[in-house]
Amino acid sequence: MSPRPFVLAAAVAVSSLSLPATADEAAFAACLAGLRGEAAAQGVRAETFDTYTAQLAPDMAVIGFLDAQPEFVTPIWDYLAALVDEERVSDGRAMLAQWKDVLAEVERRYGVDAETVVAVWGVESNYGRNFGSRPLLSSLSTLSCFGRRQSFFRGEFFTTLKIVQEGHVAPERLTGSWAGAFGHTQFMPSTFMRLAVDFDGDGRRDLVDSVPDALASTANFLKRAGWNSDLPWGFEVRLAAGAAPADAGRRNKRPVSEWAARGVERVDGRALPAAATPAGLLLPAGKDGPAFLVTRNFDALYSYNAAESYGLAIAHLSDRLRGGAPFAAPWPTDDPGLSRAERRELQQLLIARGHDIGEADGMIGARTRDALKLEQAKLGLEADGRAGQRALQALRAAAR
Ligand code: CA
Repeated sequence: MSPRPFVLAAAVAVSSLSLPATADEAAFAACLAGLRGEAAAQGVRAETFDTYTAQLAPDMAVIGFLDAQPEFVTPIWDYLAALVDEERVSDGRAMLAQWKDVLAEVERRYGVDAETVVAVWGVESNYGRNFGSRPLLSSLSTLSCFGRRQSFFRGEFFTTLKIVQEGHVAPERLTGSWAGAFGHTQFMPSTFMRLAVDFDGDGRRDLVDSVPDALASTANFLKRAGWNSDLPWGFEVRLAAGAAPADAGRRNKRPVSEWAARGVERVDGRALPAAATPAGLLLPAGKDGPAFLVTRNFDALYSYNAAESYGLAIAHLSDRLRGGAPFAAPWPTDDPGLSRAERRELQQLLIARGHDIGEADGMIGARTRDALKLEQAKLGLEADGRAGQRALQALRAAAR
């Protein structure tokens, strides 16, 4: 199995739309008028619809995000280096302490441990720091009227209107990703309706301004996705020497005893769980990278965002929050990824070399990559714009 890269659908350049704004606005107004009846059939009162759509203007940038292809493929070691860095571990430990009582009650009621809940929070919104800034009603109404998935987004739009109608979250607090994920947990509106809970008892399910509601809603999501409090998500393992097993994969679950018979053992030397526990062998970068046995709890994490890299980020962060070590096996690369602190440092070095890349915020976007390509060429490195250890060390050396 060759190293399998993971696609990150974020931070993609947006193409401008060909229609003039006035034509978009006219089409949008006509579309909204046509949605009024459909919204009513979904339980949105006419008064609600009229009040919250009167001032809406289309946000055509979201159509660009809908159609954008990822600019390049992010290797899993880059993805994890930023999502599970020392900063997110120490921030997470502070959150475990700050919300100790709430988390204990959440665990008692939903059977999901504090570290897992906090790890989801840390990966989804950086513990409430990154909600996304696009007004949901603008994004979702635009996606309801233009683009490829109007029927899906109409459902999300009407549900957002119902969230406002029921008074859970004020419309001006409903901002999020271009696709409509919002709040501490980054739930889509339909997920909110199915799974969000009012944990602080004020009568509102508020995933924006109530941390207890958000933590309990995350636990409820995982519980409904089949979380079993008696199982770990999985653990890193070592394979017997030789070729990668042909039956690797999250879905190919076999009893732990079968894996043990084939020489699979935990890297930390601890005992494997009960022999009959079904587990799949996850090889995110092929047989030469870290290997994991994963239980059905990993599937529950996976269902939060339907990506194995994402599930592994949460799983690993939860282990780090419990005091666990970084992975024992190195990734199969001679140029590992950068933490967010290192990404900021790399950006500062680019700024010091005269590049206008905006603020050194640790988010590697098109401007950072373009500047990095120029500097990589000057420094005799492959000019691929990838922010890795090799580029950082070369920039550090050049600054001395
Ligand atoms: Ca509440």
